[in-house]
Amino acid sequence: MALGYRLRAHSGRPPVEQCEVMSTMPNARREMETDSAVYKTLLESTRAIPWKIDWKTMTFSYIGPQIETLLGWTQESWVGVDDWVARMHPEDRDYVVNFCVSQSQSGIDHEADYRALTADGGYVWIRDVVHVVRKDDEVEALVGFMFDISERKKAEDRLLQLQKELEVLSFQDGLTGLANRRLLDQTLDCEWASAQRSGLPLSVILLDIDYFKQYNDHYGHIGGDDCLRAVAQALTQAANRPRDFLARFGGEEFILLLPETDEVAARQIAERCRLLIRTCRIPHERSPISPLVTVSLGGGTVVPCSAELALDFIGRIDQLLYRAKQNGRDRAEFAEPPAGPADQA
Ligand code: GH3
Ligand code: MG
Ligand code: MG
Repeated sequence: MALGYRLRAHSGRPPVEQCEVMSTMPNARREMETDSAVYKTLLESTRAIPWKIDWKTMTFSYIGPQIETLLGWTQESWVGVDDWVARMHPEDRDYVVNFCVSQSQSGIDHEADYRALTADGGYVWIRDVVHVVRKDDEVEALVGFMFDISERKKAEDRLLQLQKELEVLSFQDGLTGLANRRLLDQTLDCEWASAQRSGLPLSVILLDIDYFKQYNDHYGHIGGDDCLRAVAQALTQAANRPRDFLARFGGEEFILLLPETDEVAARQIAERCRLLIRTCRIPHERSPISPLVTVSLGGGTVVPCSAELALDFIGRIDQLLYRAKQNGRDRAEFAEPPAGPADQA
């Protein structure tokens, strides 16, 4: 039994008495004993911690002395499988124990990652790699190695964290912190499909800062960036239902998606946007129409039929924005004139 050492400290070299006994032994036996000592030395000088469990009694017949360095529990304290189970993080315990037992019963070699309790109350991430020893089709023992994978886990956690941050950043406009065009495209697809299914109206508002080229020319590009951030911040107050969605559409253009919102409500929100920007009171000395920054808006409401494309609808709203510019800026244009009292009756 290659791993059949009892729990005792490793001395490095066989003691003198043992050498004398060995000298009287037949050669083959002596070689075997020497081999065993070499294997033991090898096993106990690796960073991986070897162990063996007798399947019938569920007791440790061996565990490497390195375990004490890693976890602080003495070699002798690892008596039965219960010690292994008890020294496992409660959140990992059920899954890992059930998995290892079922794999072992089926005679399948396996590995499991879990947090092992240290003698001072901390936890170390361990990977246990297990080989099932079978005799006459019966499980006889489990032998394995425990590896300290704490550093790897830390690196994996950091990588996961970075992936999450990257995902957030990939949907965010770097200048304003609003949703970017990428997230807009996805959200528009979802809301378009949802409106098609529900038959409820979807409203969209496009906004564009008036005479922003002149603003940049006069206040500089950095001043222009500050203005874009202020406008974006103000627009976040315009609509506050959970599914209302604001994004930076492009340069100095913004877009609001308003699911389950009819045209009357959309007109009100467009007007609120215009007033919110005015309330910011951002000076614009080069604007021919106002001493303060203003915006023009195009808006529309649709219950999309199955053949209709979202981009065609956005194109029509872009035309309305253009009409708002043509009609003098600092205003909103919708597809239909507002319903008068006679129409509402
Ligand atoms: P209109 O009233 O017709 O909208 O005129 P406008 O000057 O606002 O429109 P135009 O499209 O001619 O100019 C938009 C300007 O917005 C030009 C571009 O340099 C500026 N711009 C686009 N993106 C940014 C940005 O991220 N930061 C800054 N500072 N300026 C930007
Ligand atoms: Mg523009
Ligand atoms: Mg503009």
